[in-house]
Amino acid sequence: LFPVPVLARLSSTGASLQKEESTADLKHNQGFKGHDMLAPFTAGWQSADLHPLVIEKSEGCYVYDINGKKYLDALAGLWCTALGGNEPRLVAAATEQLNKLPFYHSFWNRTTKPSLDLAKELLESFTARKMAKAFFVNSGSEANDTQVKLVWYYNNALGRPNKKKFIARAKSYHGSTLIAASLSGLPALHQKFDLPAPFVLHTDCPHYWRFHLPGETEEEFSTRLATNLENLIQKEGPETIAAFIAEPVMGAGGVIPPPATYFEKIQAVVNKYDILFIADEVICAFGRLGTMYGCDKYNIKPDLVSVAKALSSAYMPIGAVLVSAEVSEVISSQSNELGVFSHGFTYSGHPVSCAVAIEALKIYKERNIVEKVNSISPKFQDGVKAFSDSPIIGEIRGTGLILGTEFTDNKSPNDPFPAGWGVGAYFGAQCEKHGMLVRVSGDNIMMSPPFIISPKEVDELISIYGKALKATEERVK
Ligand code: PLP
Repeated sequence: LFPVPVLARLSSTGASLQKEESTADLKHNQGFKGHDMLAPFTAGWQSADLHPLVIEKSEGCYVYDINGKKYLDALAGLWCTALGGNEPRLVAAATEQLNKLPFYHSFWNRTTKPSLDLAKELLESFTARKMAKAFFVNSGSEANDTQVKLVWYYNNALGRPNKKKFIARAKSYHGSTLIAASLSGLPALHQKFDLPAPFVLHTDCPHYWRFHLPGETEEEFSTRLATNLENLIQKEGPETIAAFIAEPVMGAGGVIPPPATYFEKIQAVVNKYDILFIADEVICAFGRLGTMYGCDKYNIKPDLVSVAKALSSAYMPIGAVLVSAEVSEVISSQSNELGVFSHGFTYSGHPVSCAVAIEALKIYKERNIVEKVNSISPKFQDGVKAFSDSPIIGEIRGTGLILGTEFTDNKSPNDPFPAGWGVGAYFGAQCEKHGMLVRVSGDNIMMSPPFIISPKEVDELISIYGKALKATEERVK
């Protein structure tokens, strides 16, 4: 079986590769051994063994490293470059705005045309429930931090000072600022950071394959999770619970689509106790699931929504919070009383980011991006899921253009491979060797290619996946 690996690289969890593989097969970026960056989500950043993969150029669904090696970018950057790596219209929109007005802010009732236009477009694009206002931020984490501040402000305005707790879910990812990391349900985001903050509670992860009881159907599993949520609310006191936050499909936690009837049942509980529903659409929005928003796919009627990433196809940093009329009216009247709504960022509604996002939304519409995703996704889903019988794969799951693979022994959620074997990291390294970048998190592999991926590129993705799987199977044998 897997020899004990020596060299830590690649995975955020520090999962390892065997030395001769990592040095012989991944001789990229010689000369960049170690560097001066404190790199995000990277193991051993102080290690002299660290060889970062340095990306220099992008083109469609591909990126190139500084040695000219080409990779199919199967994660679209970090689930975000929806229109691929060189969409000229986005570059033109940025350049035009930079030449005209590179910056002005949105404080004190001053603002810019691109931010006003984007707010209008964005609100029109969200149809699961009518939203009244958009608040601009620079990232998904800032969006979710803003959510907490908005909800607290709202409940203070309503004279409910005790209704302040948040319920998120185990394995969720909502970002890495203090509050967003607290909401996230991944232990690595809390360990040694003194998190989560005490007002955050976590309820069940809706992962049917991993957590269902023997003989339990998906619907019964969803009912049990909704009951657990209700019990938690009762135990804490409904008057203390302000909001529930969920990704329509969990992303970084391992790509976990909801089980049948899950959101219907969860929303019924949340509504019963006057708890706000926040949809974290940072990955799911703008077509990734084959619907404009994840809320459309799962019939979610949120009070608040977070978006980022594909909003600008990641060409410029931007995110937004969409706010329902019921919530925004309370916030507006409170801030009118106080004289000012004291929340915002220098770059809230940055005109260049907004100009790029307006163009991205225009392109999504003009190119029927949702239909495009729906036409390509069966090939992607079926092609990768055809490997489900592999003896080292526990589950392959996903929908639209998002997929997760979980490696386990005996096809069982209860038989993980020893962490020291680094099975996921080995698979990821094999993909890299054959020219494809995926996300590795322990023994979970994640993929979310650009929306523009072609049938030929899907074939290539499947072929590299197959080669990496074969090599991994041989190592585990
Ligand atoms: N929410 C979700 C669902 C995410 O997947 C992410 C990032 O991956 C975030 C929030 C945080 O976004 P950012 O990294 O832009 O702060």
